[in-house]
Amino acid sequence: MSKNTSDQTNFIQKIIDNDNASGKWDTRVHTRFPPEPNGYLHIGHAKSICLNFGLAEKNNGKCNLRFDDTNPVKEEEEFVQSIIEDVKWLGFDWEDRLFYASDYFNQMYEYAVQLIRDGRAFVCDQTADEIKDCRGTLTESGQESPYRNRSVDENLDLFQRMKDGEFNNGVKTLRARIDMSHSNLNMRDPVIYRILHAPHHRTGDTWCIYPMYDWAHGLEDSIERITHSICTLEFEDHRPLYDWYLDQLGVYHPQQIEFARLNLNFTVVSKRKLKQLVDENHVDGWDDPRMPTLSGLRRRGYTPESIRNFAEDVGITKRDSVIDVVRLENSLREELNKKAPRVLGVLNPLKVVITNYSDEKTEMLEAVNNPEDPQAGTRELPFSKELYIEQADFMEDPPKKYFRLGPGREVRLRYAYFVTCTHVIKDESGNVIEIHCTYDPETRGGNSPDGRKVKGTLHWVSVPHAIEAEVRLYDRLFLKEYPENGDSFVDALNPDSCKIHTNAKLEPCLANPENITYQFERMGYFKKDEKYSTNEKNVFIRSVSLRDSWARLMKQGANQQGV
Ligand code: ATP
Ligand code: MG
Repeated sequence: MSKNTSDQTNFIQKIIDNDNASGKWDTRVHTRFPPEPNGYLHIGHAKSICLNFGLAEKNNGKCNLRFDDTNPVKEEEEFVQSIIEDVKWLGFDWEDRLFYASDYFNQMYEYAVQLIRDGRAFVCDQTADEIKDCRGTLTESGQESPYRNRSVDENLDLFQRMKDGEFNNGVKTLRARIDMSHSNLNMRDPVIYRILHAPHHRTGDTWCIYPMYDWAHGLEDSIERITHSICTLEFEDHRPLYDWYLDQLGVYHPQQIEFARLNLNFTVVSKRKLKQLVDENHVDGWDDPRMPTLSGLRRRGYTPESIRNFAEDVGITKRDSVIDVVRLENSLREELNKKAPRVLGVLNPLKVVITNYSDEKTEMLEAVNNPEDPQAGTRELPFSKELYIEQADFMEDPPKKYFRLGPGREVRLRYAYFVTCTHVIKDESGNVIEIHCTYDPETRGGNSPDGRKVKGTLHWVSVPHAIEAEVRLYDRLFLKEYPENGDSFVDALNPDSCKIHTNAKLEPCLANPENITYQFERMGYFKKDEKYSTNEKNVFIRSVSLRDSWARLMKQGANQQGV
C-alpha cells in the first residue's frame, strides 16, 4: 500500500504551505472536526477526522472537536458520547478544545441583531412553502418577500419577540437580505433563524429559535479562529454565503476548503440511512459488526491503525469517486497478517479417529505463532486419538483437483502428522458422521523423512482439548455494488450477511482469548466479541477473510446486480 504519498498529492497541504510562505495566518494551522450529534460516526467521518487532526499534527497546529448541535430535534447525548469515544479510539487528541455550537447561541443571536441593525436581515412572515415557491430557479429570479422592507425597529422588535416565544413554530423566520435574483440560489435571502419550540440536549428550554446550519457553521469557525475550514464538496456553493455573512459582520474570516467525500462501494455512508437500518432493525444496532460505523468496524476487529492507513491511502481529492471497499479490507488484512497470532479452529466439525494411535496418549506438538514475526515464538498444541477437522475438508467421492481428505487419501495435519483415511462411518440418512484414519509416526511435525509429498494440509483440533465456541461469519451488508442506485437501498441488503456456526471447536489456547484478533489458519481473522459472548460461551466474529473472495465472484460474473 502506498503510504505517505498523499503528502505530495494532498492539495490542502499545499495551500497550507503557501499560506505559511506568505504569512497569511502567521504560520498558524487550526482545524476542527465538526460533527452533528445526530448519529454515530462512519468511515466517511474517519476520513475527515484523519484529515483535520492529521493536518494539525503535521503542521504543529491544533484541531478542535466541535459538536455542531444546532438542530435539537435530531440530536442526542448518546450520539455525543459515541462520537467522543470514536475520535479518541482513532487516536486523536483535542486536548482542552471540546466545543459545542450551542455554547455560541448568544453570540450568534447578537450577530443576527447586528445584521438587522445594518439593514441586512429582516423578519419574514412567509411560510416555509411560500419561501420555497418564491425562490425561483437556476434560470429564473426569485420574488422578493412582501416583508422584506420592514423597518429596522420593527425587525428588531419582532426578532426579540420570536426569541421570547411569542410565536408558534414556522410562523416567522429571520432572513438575510441579500439578492433574490442572485445566480447562486443560496444567496436568495436565506433563512437565518427559525422558530422551534423544542428542548435542546444542552440548552434545555432556553431557546425557541434556532440558527440555520449555514448561519451557524461559518460563525462557529470564526469564533474558534479556525484557519483552514475544511468541508466536503457539497458546501462549495454555500461558501459565497458564509463569506457574505462574515464580511457583513466584519469578523474573523477563516478560509473554507472543500474536498471530495469518501464513498465506498457495497456500502452506505449517510447517517440518515444508517439510522434507518438501525431503527428498522435490519441490523443489531449502530455497532453491528456489519455497519460501516466506527463502532461497528471496531467490533468487527478493525484497528485504529488500519483505518488511519486506509484514510491516508485513499488520499484527498477535489473530485467525487467511489473507493473499492476491498481497499479498506486490505488495509486490515495487511496489518493483521503482520500481527495476528495464528491458531487452529474448526467451524463445522467432523470427527476423525486415528485408529493406530494410543487411547491414553496426548502429545504436545510445537506450533508457530506467526510465520511473519519470528519474535512471536511457538506454542504447544495437544494431539490425541480423536480430532476434529472441517467438514468441507473431507469428500467421499472427491473430484480430481480436490487435495484434501477422501477414502484412501493422505494429507498433512498442520504441525502434526500425515494421516490416511481408511474408513467412513455414516448415519442412517447416509451423512458422513465420523472418519477413521491411520497416522504415520515417522511424519511428526508434518514432514515425511522419505520425501513423500502430500498436497493438502488441514487444520484440526483435539477432541478432548477442544474449546467450544460460536463463530459468526459476516459478509457484506449490501449485495449491490451501488446500493443507493435503485428504489430503496434497503432492497439491496444482503439476506445472508451473517452466518452463525454454533458448534465451532477451537484449540485450547483460546480458552481465555486476549482482546486481539487471531488468524484461524485457512479460515480468516477472528476476534472475540464481548457483546455477544456470555459466561458459558465465547462468540468470535470474523473480521476479514484471508483473501478477497468477492474479487473472484465478481470476475466470474456472479454479481451483476447494481453494477
Ligand atoms: P452524513 O451525510 O452521513 O449525515 P454529515 O456530513 O451530515 O454526514 P456531519 O456530522 O455534518 O455529517 O459531518 C461531520 C464532518 O464529517 C463534516 O465536516 C463532513 O464534511 C465530514 N464528512 C461526513 N461524511 C463524510 C464522508 N463520506 N467523507 C468525508 N467526510 C465526511
Ligand atoms: Mg451534516
